[in-house]
Amino acid sequence: MRVGVLALQGDFGLHAKALEKCGVEAVEVRKPTELDAVDGLVIPGGESTTLLKLIDAWDFVPAIEKFHRAGKPLFGTCAGLIILAREVEGPRQFSLGLIDVTVERNAYGRQRESFEAAGVARLDGVDTRIEMFFIRAPRIRRVGPDVHVLAEHGGEPVMARYGSVLVATFHPELTDSTVIHRYFCDMVGQARIAA
Ligand code: GLN
Repeated sequence: MRVGVLALQGDFGLHAKALEKCGVEAVEVRKPTELDAVDGLVIPGGESTTLLKLIDAWDFVPAIEKFHRAGKPLFGTCAGLIILAREVEGPRQFSLGLIDVTVERNAYGRQRESFEAAGVARLDGVDTRIEMFFIRAPRIRRVGPDVHVLAEHGGEPVMARYGSVLVATFHPELTDSTVIHRYFCDMVGQARIAA
């Protein structure tokens, strides 16, 4: 199984390492045609405005939409979530709209721009301990009716799933634990069987 990491900007290297630890082949994706060779795609954290410019410059929008229509799973973390969300605030900007959530960028304020927290994610019905690194993170301000919240922090959703799209406001690749990457790899494996 090959899982791609969008390698235009941001924290793609550590995602690739986490995926390799899960026993899949991690592929750095820099061109839309490279999506044909992977079964799932991680869109990493970074700076969403820069990432958007590069996504546009390389004509990734139709390619990611096609990838999604083919049922292949996507996992967006932090800036990656901002790219996948239905609506973006603070300020408003273009997004792919592949999961029905509204996110507000840089929404933790200056004092708590970056922080670490322990939490619990409900993964396949099992409560699983997770560590979360929030780095100038967005906040999920609205969740659509069909979106499943998998983890919360301070009573707010921080990880969610809608079908083949998984998102987190934090950076799972910065922890030693691979539980969240494993969960995504399972999504990718199941989508392959179903295809
Ligand atoms: N603050 C960034 C943005 O708005 C996201 C930060 C991150 O990905 N760690 O795009």
